[in-house]
Amino acid sequence: VCVKYFRVQSAVFNGVQIQSVEVECVQSRRLPHLQLLGCTSTASLEMRERLIAAFSSSKLSFPARRITIRLSPSVSADVCETLDLAVALAILGSSGAFPIEKLEQMLVFGSLRLDGAIQEANAAQVLRKFLRNSKMTGAILPWSVSSLLAEEKSYKGGGFRDLNEVLIFLRSEEKRAAHAAAICVDSPQAEPLENAIDRIEGLVVAKRMLEIAAAGAHHSLLLGPRGVGKSLLARALPSLLPPPNSEQQEELSLLYRVRREKWDGRIPFRAPDLSLSMRQLIGGMRGFGELSLAHGGVLFLDELLERDRESLEALRMPMERGWIAKIEGEQYFPADALIVGAANLCPCGARGDKANRCICSIWEIRRYRRRLSFALADRFDLRLELSPEQNEAQSSGRSYSQVRESILMARELMLRRQNKTNGRLELSECFEKEWQESAMARWRAESTRRGNSLRGSAALAKVALTISDLAAASFVSERHVFEAAHYRGAVEA
Ligand SMILES: [Zn+2]
Repeated sequence: VCVKYFRVQSAVFNGVQIQSVEVECVQSRRLPHLQLLGCTSTASLEMRERLIAAFSSSKLSFPARRITIRLSPSVSADVCETLDLAVALAILGSSGAFPIEKLEQMLVFGSLRLDGAIQEANAAQVLRKFLRNSKMTGAILPWSVSSLLAEEKSYKGGGFRDLNEVLIFLRSEEKRAAHAAAICVDSPQAEPLENAIDRIEGLVVAKRMLEIAAAGAHHSLLLGPRGVGKSLLARALPSLLPPPNSEQQEELSLLYRVRREKWDGRIPFRAPDLSLSMRQLIGGMRGFGELSLAHGGVLFLDELLERDRESLEALRMPMERGWIAKIEGEQYFPADALIVGAANLCPCGARGDKANRCICSIWEIRRYRRRLSFALADRFDLRLELSPEQNEAQSSGRSYSQVRESILMARELMLRRQNKTNGRLELSECFEKEWQESAMARWRAESTRRGNSLRGSAALAKVALTISDLAAASFVSERHVFEAAHYRGAVEA
């Protein structure tokens, strides 16, 4: 006895294009079974398992009936994942979960994860083309590509993060989903609006260091007495950074979604407090932490030396690589954040400030500074000790927009040259740009003076390279190395 017939329009990748596929579904009161016609038996078996898992994770009951699904035209095994959502909705629709009219002339596209989430898709371009050439009047899409629906005001539907969100929408009276994915990079709205750097008086050297940090994505360490402006500087950094690229945007929306938070589309700035465990900061066996939520943006670790040793040591690898490996398996979490550490010069915080008297003993200060093990300190390409006097220094005369312009230009230069930021380079890669002989000599001399640590020498070279890129110079000069050496102090002393 046939219960209900339901039909959903979907699509699969066909090379670099999208090809439409019709998904038909009937349910009958016979022995419970899910039969998929129109793809190989392995593919249909896999899809069945994905669907059953996604239904159960979404707390939806899978109909205990005989369900027959037919895909036409038939589909090759390697592309049929994008039909998951369509097949799921065909099953739910034929069970009467929502009215059939809701999906009329709608494209349903997306693959499901076992937890019921709709997988991010990176196919906005081809989908846009497909929709424009089709007779569809709307679409149910993964959240990540929903911005393309916003372009055409007449389209129904929207982007969704999981199966339940789709169901809520299909049961509602709404024609359009209320939410849309973050705006594309090339949209002017993605530009940060704050020009915080203009509001900071003085601190010319520190602001210059922020400029270098933002351009080359160099981890930075700010040392100085309490109240000298370390947090203010860190908070000014996101507005100097280039906006996340489209890959980072997709990763960010995915990461925030897993945390059941919504990424607001702005450059992340995370400033976790001292009480955070290592697991909350970096992530454990199963999850990720603040570092990943700062992906593409800034992770500000104030009172760095007050934090537990374990967390600090665990930061070392991700600081170099920009991702965190999960202990089991080959999965990893993106964690490409710019880390800004800040610390007082002594436990009481007054050292270095002439107006206040430090009450710490030499021994306490030594123990305090030893906490920043040499190995971790060395991973900060830029290090600066701030003093209150610098507050009174003259302004550099450069406005926020001028500074930001040179940062974006420098970033473009380095990405064109080596396809990664200078902060991520190995030492040998630093010499793809031409170095003047005097610059090389200066770099060798500085390295020797600082004990020839490989990482330290590399940091000096990377920072010099960024300074040269900021100047749009075609080579690295002695002056660039000289300036770079300024931002390599603070710790060895
Ligand atoms: Zn003190």
